[in-house]
Amino acid sequence: MKFNSSRRKFLKAGLILPAVGLVSTNDSYAFSKMPDNVAYRVLGKTGLKVSTVGSGVGIEPDPQVIARAIDLGVNYFDTARMYGNGSSERITGTALKGKRDKVILATKTDGRTKSDIFKDMEASLNALNTDYVDIYHLHSRDTPDTITDESVEACEMLKKEGKTRFIGVSTHDVHAVADHILKIGKFDVVQTTYSYAIGGAPLRQEAISRLYAAGIGMVAMKVIIAVAGFIPRDINLPKEGPLAAIKWVLLNPAISTTVPYTKNIAELEMNVRAMAEAYTPQDEKMLYTRNQEIRPLYCRMCYECKGKCPNNVPITDELRFLAYYDFGANFHQAQDNFRRLPEEIRSVHCSDCSSCAVQCPNGVDIRNRLIRAQVLFA
Ligand code: SF4
Ligand code: SF4
Repeated sequence: MKFNSSRRKFLKAGLILPAVGLVSTNDSYAFSKMPDNVAYRVLGKTGLKVSTVGSGVGIEPDPQVIARAIDLGVNYFDTARMYGNGSSERITGTALKGKRDKVILATKTDGRTKSDIFKDMEASLNALNTDYVDIYHLHSRDTPDTITDESVEACEMLKKEGKTRFIGVSTHDVHAVADHILKIGKFDVVQTTYSYAIGGAPLRQEAISRLYAAGIGMVAMKVIIAVAGFIPRDINLPKEGPLAAIKWVLLNPAISTTVPYTKNIAELEMNVRAMAEAYTPQDEKMLYTRNQEIRPLYCRMCYECKGKCPNNVPITDELRFLAYYDFGANFHQAQDNFRRLPEEIRSVHCSDCSSCAVQCPNGVDIRNRLIRAQVLFA
């Protein structure tokens, strides 16, 4: 799979998608009076009506940003048990006090056994200060073998007990797990990486379309990261880059909502404009330019390099953690993820290789990027 480096292919990846089918703002899931300029879509077979711009509350959420998001009509909030070792859920739970019925709340478990998944759910409900979540995801499941019968059974039991209304899978490699998810036939929602920088990959597009056609509600994550960050540091980042990037994602009618991580109220207020504004030629030019600038730096998560390092470095994972810092300015999240890798993996240093045995078809400077990650987060 080749990165769409030509302008023509980039346009093809985004602009020729079918017209977006928006849900009427009168069909709100949670609001008696609708804020203006909020667009909703139905989240697949869940029937939930979600604001097309949601909120990825991330590892260090700001309660004021959460409160303002609700005021602006954002009704979808996404967190995870492992974000900040539970602090993300705790802050979110506090910020949602008295407002729980206004939002659709998703969280995730990294648990692999029934017992760990049940334990995580209890901890999540406690931290989020609620009796139930709306969507419970198996977190970061990038290969079929990580979605085991045991984990599916655990999710179904939690659904039966009313602790979650729906169940889902969060994945960085939707192409790798789509068939498995469809075969299992139990999941209501899939959350996956999708952005202008990576979304044009045909296999990823095709997997998203197939899941959507089967009634799975699709949530896009990492939608703005490649345009919101600081690298290269010697260029002026386009102020409205994140807005353009969200608009690009929403061109795809299969995507019901997006969960950009928003650091402050100004960013939030800009991002929510994506629900009401059209994608323009200026947006496309801005994103195309940025895409070229970050070519050697930003891993497109195509997984072409999977298993190719003779020293077993999980290249895509380490590069994703680096992106949390270089593009998301989130050092803690990057380091936290890196330090969860097994010791034998963390002890491999790319600086010991004189050249890298792996070539990236998308132009990423793998060795130097990995050296940077390994030095920063060790
Ligand atoms: S580093 Fe690997 S996963 Fe990332 S874009 Fe290159 S080949 Fe794809
Ligand atoms: S530099 Fe060496 S250790 Fe690092 S990814 Fe390449 S081959 Fe693997």
